[in-house]
Amino acid sequence: MADYTKPIPVPQPESDRYWEGTRREELWLRTCLDCDQAYFYPRDICPKCHSRNTDWIRSSGKGTISTFSIAHRAPHPGFVGDVPYIAAIVELEEGPRIPTNIVGVDPEPENLDIGMPVQVVFEKITDEITLPKFELV
Ligand SMILES: [Zn+2]
Repeated sequence: MADYTKPIPVPQPESDRYWEGTRREELWLRTCLDCDQAYFYPRDICPKCHSRNTDWIRSSGKGTISTFSIAHRAPHPGFVGDVPYIAAIVELEEGPRIPTNIVGVDPEPENLDIGMPVQVVFEKITDEITLPKFELV
């Protein structure tokens, strides 16, 4: 998409499978086989116990709103056309918290609450990058 003007994530070798998954509209997480913790963002070393004994698991894509903010001022020129929008941290049912947007709902405080259940949806922004976002359940 040549007209996509927001910053775009740069895939790294240790996150390739994550981006392959989002292109298929699947959310994949790294998990540690030593301390049994799934984590985000995807990287080769467990952030809790520093083990390299890790694997991938597919997330259900279900979670709850951990916190949110309604942005009324664009943090980057690419977001000017989007304000107001909802920036949020979603806690997935596998445990990790991921930064994202809540979409499909008017960005008004009375429409949102901490703990509300959400489900992942996917937004293709380029041939390589598809972003996970969340809708209220
Ligand atoms: Zn670990």
